[in-house]
Amino acid sequence: MKYTIQIARIAGIPILLHSSFVLLLAFPAYLHFVRHAPPKTLILFVLFIIALFGCVLLHELGHALAARYYKIKTKDIILLPVGGVARLENTFHRPMQEAVVAIAGPFVNFFLFLIISILLLIFYGYKLTFIESLMGQPNALITQPDLLLWIALLQANGALAVFNMFPAFPMDGSRVFRALAATQLGRTRATQLAAGISYAVVVVLLVHSTGLWHYFKTGFFKTEWLLVGFSLFMWRATQKEYQQVVLDELLKRHTVANVLRTQFTTFQGSDPMHLPITALTKGIESDFLLVSGEHIVGILARETLIEASNQKKAADTIDDFLSQQAIKNRDVPYQIASKQDTIKTIYIKMSETEQYLLPVFEPNAERNRGNLQGVVDMNMIQNYIKIQKQLR
Ligand SMILES: [Zn+2]
Repeated sequence: MKYTIQIARIAGIPILLHSSFVLLLAFPAYLHFVRHAPPKTLILFVLFIIALFGCVLLHELGHALAARYYKIKTKDIILLPVGGVARLENTFHRPMQEAVVAIAGPFVNFFLFLIISILLLIFYGYKLTFIESLMGQPNALITQPDLLLWIALLQANGALAVFNMFPAFPMDGSRVFRALAATQLGRTRATQLAAGISYAVVVVLLVHSTGLWHYFKTGFFKTEWLLVGFSLFMWRATQKEYQQVVLDELLKRHTVANVLRTQFTTFQGSDPMHLPITALTKGIESDFLLVSGEHIVGILARETLIEASNQKKAADTIDDFLSQQAIKNRDVPYQIASKQDTIKTIYIKMSETEQYLLPVFEPNAERNRGNLQGVVDMNMIQNYIKIQKQLR
């Protein structure tokens, strides 16, 4: 992902830190320069941030490892200043799997909350009551910075567990709810229901955070901008979730036959390299079939052509260029499609293999020109999706 650096690899999963993380440095800078906080406070603050994101990371690992149990891989875990995201590679086969994976994250924080509570009670129990430690205002805090850190972590994990179980997208709670509802209603209806609840939560939060409610009671606005921002973020996430499920339905109902293109350009290995480059710049087709006699031997991808065009030393023929590029392009087995495939299957196949043009054959047919029914490409799929969305 853009603007991220890999900071670790845990259980084979790359842990990425988003560059906007440096924004968090604004806080200690503010404490130091504006509030003239002592160095001890700054160190404590930084320690807290590190520990907090450790907990966020464990939360995401909870999702990732639960997904692994169902043989679903995690592409990476991204840590952002506002929290973490575990990006899973595939979708769930059964709703209950999504429920378990979604609840695993908050469960980790609940577990950490329990552990820290027990440790606090064992080591500091005689100095403060449990309730005091939850409220975070015991007198002991002023004299014991390490205790302050533990209590801050206790509160943070409690908050992470509760907050993530909120029934609004993109929080885990709404996913748990959606998955449980999906066992009865199916995924589309369940998402509609979950999105409805999510919108309702956002509206209540907006009425509260903008100070509208306060205004009706007292005649004065008391606006909490951070919460307003977060409400809008949730609104957008709900919208996206809803659109995704509508799109999924659409892609599942339509097949390659709907987007089959029967007019396309092919090239031979002996053709001059400038021909496909010229064809690309005309902008109608961006990937081309490479043929040899009756056989379809590969795909001339847009990336390859751009690379060829940008190279100072021009290759004479397509074959020349591909052999310069070594085995990289030529001998990679290419993907194919059949008319009966759903657009969803093809869309996933294209995204995963980064091959954006697929020749279309009958299943099990030999891959020669006589059997070729047409091609399907990413541009047409995206165009089709766009139009279908407007028609509905
Ligand atoms: Zn989560």
